Amino acid sequence: MAIMVSIGWVCICRRLNKFPIRGRSIVLALAMALATGCSPSASRTDLPLHSGAGADSPNLVLIVIDTFRPDHLGTFGYSRMTAPFLEELVERGTTFANAFSTSTWTAPSTSSLFTSLYPNHHGVTEGFLAHKRRARAVARARNEVLRLNQLPKESPTLPEILQRAGYRTQGVTSNINIGPKIGFDRGFERFRQMTNRTAEDLAAQIEAWQHDNDDPRPTFTYLHFNDVHEPYTAHAPWFEKSENELETTVSAYDSQISYLDGVLDRLYHDLEWERNTLVVIVSDHGEEFMEHGRMGHQLSLHHELMRVLMSFSGSDVGVPSHGRINVNVSLIDIMPTLLDLLNLTIPSDLDGDSLSPLLDATASAEEEQPSLRQRTLFAHRSADRFRSGQPEVHLWAAIKGPWKLIEKPSGPRLFNLVEDPLERINLAERKPVILAQLREELQGLKGDGFSNNQTLGVEIDEETLETLRSLGYVQ
Ligand SMILES: [Zn+2]
Repeated sequence: MAIMVSIGWVCICRRLNKFPIRGRSIVLALAMALATGCSPSASRTDLPLHSGAGADSPNLVLIVIDTFRPDHLGTFGYSRMTAPFLEELVERGTTFANAFSTSTWTAPSTSSLFTSLYPNHHGVTEGFLAHKRRARAVARARNEVLRLNQLPKESPTLPEILQRAGYRTQGVTSNINIGPKIGFDRGFERFRQMTNRTAEDLAAQIEAWQHDNDDPRPTFTYLHFNDVHEPYTAHAPWFEKSENELETTVSAYDSQISYLDGVLDRLYHDLEWERNTLVVIVSDHGEEFMEHGRMGHQLSLHHELMRVLMSFSGSDVGVPSHGRINVNVSLIDIMPTLLDLLNLTIPSDLDGDSLSPLLDATASAEEEQPSLRQRTLFAHRSADRFRSGQPEVHLWAAIKGPWKLIEKPSGPRLFNLVEDPLERINLAERKPVILAQLREELQGLKGDGFSNNQTLGVEIDEETLETLRSLGYVQ
């Protein structure tokens, strides 16, 4: 990894207009220059250099709310007040209204968050027994060895880069996938996987570390909460039982959001994240409640699963308040965006782009970013991979502007997300030109194949089985 570059943190917005970003984003800057007729701005190499993050660099907090649907926030039109604190935080910062995951289960999407790579490029295409059929097979054959995909060793992860740049790094997670076995602990000086524990347990761990800290370095904190994930827990006083079973389930799901919201509210103020801290909150995928005939987050790439929360806040570190960005963005953009905002070198060959030019208080910021507006984003989901005797099956998606293609073994589906956000009307036959364009772009990604085959053998013991049972994976 190259020497990291850091300059003082004054104001993101002003800085972003003045200094472009590295790597692939240099191309973006040149494209912008061509489009606008302006000269590209000075390179960061023209700036005074420091060896890394300094004591006055902002802290960074990255919160992942597993399985959280942004349309269950009032901010996005939800009728129930599920999360007053989150709403306030979202309103206080800048939110991407059309943010998408790269997959619809935890391990692949969080791997994209950590590496800025699509699933077939980082290779973590399945999670820890994420497939129920396989989980049942493993349950019958306990003490068998399961081969888990791992994050590619040659790809630097976000915590690794931040640690090398001088950040104190700490992470706490309650999802069974987000642990050392897949490689999510890489780059963390302190990392604790607390599978199946509550948000309060995770908060207590972070607070204990924080109060035991006289380290002058800025801190990167990663929290991955699993409280909104099934099995749904009915939290009082928010849960409301209904005569309708689906409504009862949704109320339990919403009550989990309300519970987590209270913990986040307390943590945010106790740890003073309102001061010199960039807070980023995302979800790894959504959840489906029979929109397309299924529950949970299984074999689908539909909107209710692919749309995620993506919110940046930190007014005293330059994030504009009340910002709402409509450009399509992806979890792969988080890593280059954060490195860009922190003035750290962005690795080359990432799939994502820095969104920092969009985190600009000027009203025309979106219009001035044609390259970001015209990108095509992708997603992947492996399906029925372990059905004995059957070939591997993959679902793929491509999103560009209002158009979304889902390629299934049974044929393509084409939707207009603006006119049909529920993805009810398949336009594949009526829009052959758009369909062909998206399929061709998708073929470009698929042609890369699955580039990482690093796996780890994990023995399934009784404790793991019990954890899987408690999460509903094993009957
Ligand atoms: Zn998840």
